[in-house]
Amino acid sequence: MSEIIIHDERFRRLIIGHARLERLWSGGRWVEGPAYFPAGRYLVWSDIPNNRLMRFDETDGSVSVFREPSHHTNGNTTDRFGRLVSCEHLTRRVTRTEFDGSVRVLADAFEGRRLNSPNDVVEAADGAIWFTDPTYGIDGDYEGIAAPSEQAGSFVYRVDPASGQVEAMIRDRVQPNGLAFSPDGRLLYVADTGGTHQPGLPATIHAYPMDVAGRPGKPTLFATCREGFYDGFRVDKAGNLWSSAGLGVDCYAPDGTLIGEIRIGEIVGNLCFGGARFNRLYICGQTSLYSYFVNTNSAVRPASGV
Ligand code: MG
Repeated sequence: MSEIIIHDERFRRLIIGHARLERLWSGGRWVEGPAYFPAGRYLVWSDIPNNRLMRFDETDGSVSVFREPSHHTNGNTTDRFGRLVSCEHLTRRVTRTEFDGSVRVLADAFEGRRLNSPNDVVEAADGAIWFTDPTYGIDGDYEGIAAPSEQAGSFVYRVDPASGQVEAMIRDRVQPNGLAFSPDGRLLYVADTGGTHQPGLPATIHAYPMDVAGRPGKPTLFATCREGFYDGFRVDKAGNLWSSAGLGVDCYAPDGTLIGEIRIGEIVGNLCFGGARFNRLYICGQTSLYSYFVNTNSAVRPASGV
């Protein structure tokens, strides 16, 4: 169990003693955005600089290109109907791949100006799409195309499921990145990688309480990264938060205590739960796709309908 570090006895119940880290594929430049599709038992993820979406077939272990060019897609998620929702750096928009294969734009502007470069995305219980919009896709030509920001900052946005209206919901982060809701939907966790642009700024995850109208309130600091950054993360059914954290995955109890780690050995960008029982962590680590079976399940089971 060399890749497992237990900080708190609560973590012991969440892992499987004889499970091992599996490297499923390698050959990317910077991979992120895993999204699992239970009906087809496959995983889609982004190889951002290589401008492609990849696909891992869980039934036979094969890997293929899912979409190329991908418009330098970064974060992906699977909505409740099993549709792929993607954050595209190059085209600075959030899209949804429909049942007929067409690609529909969900958001590409706010207040008449282009978005920065949508980074990560989740679906709320009411069907709204929430996404972060830092500047990484317009900071240079590696993960998109360099361009000035047209927005007053890097915000967290909500796309209304009925009207399609795009609204800035969180404006107090420097570079909001990964995001996820608690199982009961009462907290929205948001990672901030602002230290890439303001040296000395701590890498954090903040928890925003959601009011009855579904709006985020004053945040509290949930966790501070000891090394590197928190990028993407997901929450299990008990509310434990599994996050990318430098060269590994950190697991935090709902009270914010770091209870354990999985050492990966590459910089982890993002992860998600998948597998037929949603107990398999798929982990995007820099150049490679990894998986690790755990003794818990995802809080959110995509494609479960309404
Ligand atoms: Mg990210």
